[in-house]
Amino acid sequence: MSDDDIDLELHKKKKKIIRTTQESSNDTTMTYYEMLKRLYAMMPEKQQSKVIIPVPNVEPMGSKRTLLVNFVNICKAINSDKLDIQKYIQSELKTETSINIKSHLVCRGRYTSAMFQTVLRSYIKTWVECQACHSLHTSCIRDRNTSLYIMECNSCHATRTITKM
Ligand SMILES: [Zn+2]
Repeated sequence: MSDDDIDLELHKKKKKIIRTTQESSNDTTMTYYEMLKRLYAMMPEKQQSKVIIPVPNVEPMGSKRTLLVNFVNICKAINSDKLDIQKYIQSELKTETSINIKSHLVCRGRYTSAMFQTVLRSYIKTWVECQACHSLHTSCIRDRNTSLYIMECNSCHATRTITKM
């Protein structure tokens, strides 16, 4: 597979998803896609088909809350613990969150899909992405003595240390 083939495939995917996205958030959405595109492009061919991070599907809940409807799918796609992502979103948006009976993330305040994308992008960069090969197939293990997290990449086996927020 050459680089050209990868580009074409991504183009198709991009079009498909953008149609379901609100027009107003297109600008920010593009940067999110740009990042995904870069991540996909740098990943070994085998993994590209596996890591597809869904666009945050956001719904207002009353006038003061926002539901992140596909929270579970996003967590699965990022391959991270729900609680970790919930905590991260909570601290980045400086709000309170909970998970409802349908496993939607309920956030106090009104947020757009683009805002969640920004937070998720930052989460991925900090907690998931391998800095050496940009794979998202990594594992994070907490060292109980130091409270530091050791990330190991399942693709290139590079390791790095993450200091807790
Ligand atoms: Zn790696």
